[in-house]
Amino acid sequence: MKHRIFSGARPTGRLHIGNYLGALQNWVKLQDEYDCVYCIVDIHALTSMEDTSNLQANIHEMLLDWLAVGLDPQKSILFVQSHVPEVTELNTLLGMITPLSWLLRVPTFKDKVKLQKENVNYGLVGYPVLMASDIVLYKADTVPVGEDQLPHLELTREIVRRFNCLFGETLVEPKAKLTDFPNVPGLDGKGKMSKQAGNHIEIAMTEKETADKIKTAFTDPARLRRSDPGHPEICNIYKLLGQFDAEGRNGIDEKCRNAEIGCVECKNLLIKAINDAMRPIRERRKELEANPKALEGILTEGAERARVIAQDTMRLVRKNMKLL
Ligand code: SF4
Repeated sequence: MKHRIFSGARPTGRLHIGNYLGALQNWVKLQDEYDCVYCIVDIHALTSMEDTSNLQANIHEMLLDWLAVGLDPQKSILFVQSHVPEVTELNTLLGMITPLSWLLRVPTFKDKVKLQKENVNYGLVGYPVLMASDIVLYKADTVPVGEDQLPHLELTREIVRRFNCLFGETLVEPKAKLTDFPNVPGLDGKGKMSKQAGNHIEIAMTEKETADKIKTAFTDPARLRRSDPGHPEICNIYKLLGQFDAEGRNGIDEKCRNAEIGCVECKNLLIKAINDAMRPIRERRKELEANPKALEGILTEGAERARVIAQDTMRLVRKNMKLL
């Protein structure tokens, strides 16, 4: 029997090439090896979202990107978190056995408190319990995580161990699948690519929009003129080129240091590399966009399949907690 993976993403709308290189490519590969459950975690999004007017549109855009890059509803379960209400019941029950001190020590909670001082809600502190509920509800035994997310998964494992110790062997304790999520630089040269920073290229952009965005990107700030020698190791265009066309990047390091190539030439190489890589994905996205009914069907079917597993878990949870 295949091991089962659970992974989720908040509905942030259109995804960018950082999301593609950082997670989606890996999710697509995992589909052949694992039984994958991929969830658009809309309830999680509410912990930091007071205006929900774009929520449905964001779910729609995200699903389009998922399908366009190759997530396959025939292979994986693709669904929206809130479409399987059992998750909120399990969240409540796990909340009863999770000490508040475990939640207050989570580093991301402390970061969020600083970020959204005006909206430190109950859901925010309980975020890791909801995350644990997502994973164990679908009996996932494997969770792909980066090194920095290991403490979160460890908390899920602690909650599961505590539950099983109190009520008998009930929940599956998931293991981490340590995954290297490449750090994709943003176009402003100030850190990683993010929608919030506006330094990103959306998967769904047109070729012209992609070109226009890259043309205005920052490079090595020391290169004011073409005759200035450059430092490719600090240049985001150079790094991105390595991620999209490692072969095409050969020789650029030396040419840049000797001022034998200009940034415009480099950017043109990157524009071509990204547009070539995204072209089939963008074409598929357009086809999918033309058929919104089919998208709805995918989410409905995904939720039905997810719910069968969820109901099975909840029967056992209720029974062992003596709620039945
Ligand atoms: Fe970066 Fe290329 Fe310009 Fe060098 S020539 S600074 S690698 S864009």
